[in-house]
Amino acid sequence: MSAQPHVLIVEDEEAQREVLAYNLEAEGFRVSRAEDGEEGLLMVAEDAPDVMVLDWMLPRVTGIEVCRRLKIDPATRGIAIIMLSARTEEVDKVRGLETGADDYVTKPYSVTELMARVRSQLRRVRPTTVGQVLAYDDILLDAETHRVSRDGESLKLGPTEFRLLSTFMEKPGRVWSRDQLLDRVWGRDIYVDTRTVDVHVGRLRKALTATGGSDPVRTVRGAGYALG
Ligand code: CA
Repeated sequence: MSAQPHVLIVEDEEAQREVLAYNLEAEGFRVSRAEDGEEGLLMVAEDAPDVMVLDWMLPRVTGIEVCRRLKIDPATRGIAIIMLSARTEEVDKVRGLETGADDYVTKPYSVTELMARVRSQLRRVRPTTVGQVLAYDDILLDAETHRVSRDGESLKLGPTEFRLLSTFMEKPGRVWSRDQLLDRVWGRDIYVDTRTVDVHVGRLRKALTATGGSDPVRTVRGAGYALG
């Protein structure tokens, strides 16, 4: 299981998909995207998410059918599904929940509200990854509020540096190759040069040492990076 909570967005409207993905990524989640129900099912088979935000009206396979299939399969039943729908009728809501959806949000929704629902589902399916404060030496990282401090002083980190640090802090001492960091921090479907990893590790080091502490990130020659 990946260090970061993984959310799959299945939404055919690109603008909505991207706004949601942007916000989830900014909070440190790993985000995958699918444009229709069929692609959504394929992505679950390949790399099951912790939470799925699933639009009701989708091309090819509808959201309700995707939900039904995932909830009857013991291998995928545990994925928390939040259904999105433009439909407001109570009868549809009931149908959505009967199909096994864990939550149901009506469009238009507020992104803040939807993010709260995602966190709430994550708390249920992966209690250790949400609201958890990771500690390493004098560094504290709060996954929920996105705050990082060192020796009591708060540090300013960009979203990528935050994800890098949370990956490092989940397994102190572990050596991560640049490719592994790319997978965890950027996601496997985005093409990023491995040198980008070095750039962001550099920024992370700068942020972590800004208050005068020593550099906790170790470069392991020929292998990658580790914390401590
Ligand atoms: Ca739709």
